[in-house]
Amino acid sequence: MVHIVGAGPGDPELITVKGKRLLSEADVVIFAGSLVNEEILRYCKPEAEIYNSAQMMLEEILHVIALAEKAGKTTVRLHTGDPSIYGATQEQMDAMRERGIEFDVTPGVSSVLAAAAALKQEYTLPSVTQTVIITRRGGRTPVPDSESLKKLAQHQTTLCIFLSVNLLSEIKQDLMSAGFKSSTPVAVVYKASWPGEEKIIRGRLDTIVEQVKEAKIDRTAMIVVGHCLSSKSHPKSNLYSPMFSHMFRQAR
Ligand code: SAH
Repeated sequence: MVHIVGAGPGDPELITVKGKRLLSEADVVIFAGSLVNEEILRYCKPEAEIYNSAQMMLEEILHVIALAEKAGKTTVRLHTGDPSIYGATQEQMDAMRERGIEFDVTPGVSSVLAAAAALKQEYTLPSVTQTVIITRRGGRTPVPDSESLKKLAQHQTTLCIFLSVNLLSEIKQDLMSAGFKSSTPVAVVYKASWPGEEKIIRGRLDTIVEQVKEAKIDRTAMIVVGHCLSSKSHPKSNLYSPMFSHMFRQAR
């Protein structure tokens, strides 16, 4: 049996209770070493076989899994954040399905959520925006033209941009040409939740490139753009309003 598990964004305490249990029971652990905080491996059995997938190709990963299956062992495939977001998990799941290998998936806390926690920020503010777009900027990995930042930005939602902090000046240009003002607030969160390593840079579209360069951040960062970050007051939500009734409370 193979368990695909979200390791969370970095803080070893941000794995789910279930993910931690599966990790502590696993005979074989294949972790995405480029991003998973290795501290989390302390939950593994001392005798567990541990592989770092950063140095492996898909076929090698599948080979390790197949050998474990043959020996009746349990494997945890540990991915950073949540496996469903830029996890390259689909090709692994497809291959396991093809080979008749049984697997399940345990979600994790994505870095998009850890970044909001670090910023102490709600992404969906009443009358500001009710939508969050998770995306990346096209670089070595292309993004379909219909989802270019220029097009997505036109909605003026909260934008959470993965895998792109090295393309920040291109992002700035895309967003300005899509109508975002130079004063639009932007935050960059480096290593959100990693104990002792997290950095938060707050700025505006016209300052952030310089600020991030100065902070020497060129990887493992979440870019958050949008009016939710502005300190301007916004209307309160209906949820706790005395005028609003819902299933659990009558209006007073
Ligand atoms: N599945 C992961 C994302 C993997 S792609 C998740 O759900 O978080 C790797 C990208 O995720 C990085 O380039 C960066 O943009 C983002 N990322 C991963 N961990 C991060 C962290 N702790 N803080 C900020 N961004 C992070």
